[in-house]
Amino acid sequence: MDKNKKFYVTTPIYYPSGIPHVGTSYTTIVADVVARFKRLQGYDVMFTTGTDEHGQKIEEKAKKEGKTPKKYVDDIVEKYKSLWSLLNISYDKFIRTTDKPHEEAVKKIFNELYDKGEIYKSTYKGWYCTPCEAFFTDTQLKDGKCPDCGREVNWAEEEAYFFKLSKYGDKLLDYYKKHPRFICPEGRKNEMIQFIKDGLDDLCVSRTSFKWGIPVDFDKNHVVYVWLDALTNYITSQGYGSKDDSNYKKYWPANIHFVGKEIVRFHVIIWPAILMALGLPLPEQVYGHG
Ligand SMILES: [Zn+2]
Repeated sequence: MDKNKKFYVTTPIYYPSGIPHVGTSYTTIVADVVARFKRLQGYDVMFTTGTDEHGQKIEEKAKKEGKTPKKYVDDIVEKYKSLWSLLNISYDKFIRTTDKPHEEAVKKIFNELYDKGEIYKSTYKGWYCTPCEAFFTDTQLKDGKCPDCGREVNWAEEEAYFFKLSKYGDKLLDYYKKHPRFICPEGRKNEMIQFIKDGLDDLCVSRTSFKWGIPVDFDKNHVVYVWLDALTNYITSQGYGSKDDSNYKKYWPANIHFVGKEIVRFHVIIWPAILMALGLPLPEQVYGHG
């Protein structure tokens, strides 16, 4: 065995809109087992977990509790950390999307993609539910009404930035073909291939309807929406976009991203497309458990 070999394993970063639950522990324990096994094999292991702390839901929950969003997430992050310590989770780095180096790196990434023409400004259109403050597509509506609360929806338009995800369909399919173990287990791969073949839409990557997020550097009415804020944690946790990026150089690309099955799509379509747009290498494997 090669003593100098590195192994980088991740859990998703969790959304701290409430206290951690069994599902959260499941993924984290699986990742912990793999991290420990690889250390025993002599690998230099980097094992990360963390929290995805921005967004409208957090903003609202904090308001309800009479706290600032930062105070609200600080309190819940403590609960995560004490749970991981109770379960003896051996993570090497806990990344929070409110960490300053992460926020700065995300701004840089957004700027770079905009400068490269991978992000453009347009209008987000859809059915809007005012009480839920959320947009839905035709297919998401339930009997023509809001799928979350059942109320009437209105057609609305909002200025937003979009990432050119649609142009990456063929590149992704080609990548899956050349890297047969990229998506595991096998069954999930077929679902993803079909999803891409049905056609990818460009992806809305900013919002103006809430404030709790990383501001777009050159257009302060917008905050960066979840995709470019959360998925990038896997590289910013290693110093990508910071002065000291030695860990990024050492550990990236990740050997395995463990994710729940409901977020496989984000990790095998959106995340690789973002990396391709940035000209960065892709992770070796995304494992979606049941
Ligand atoms: Zn609603």
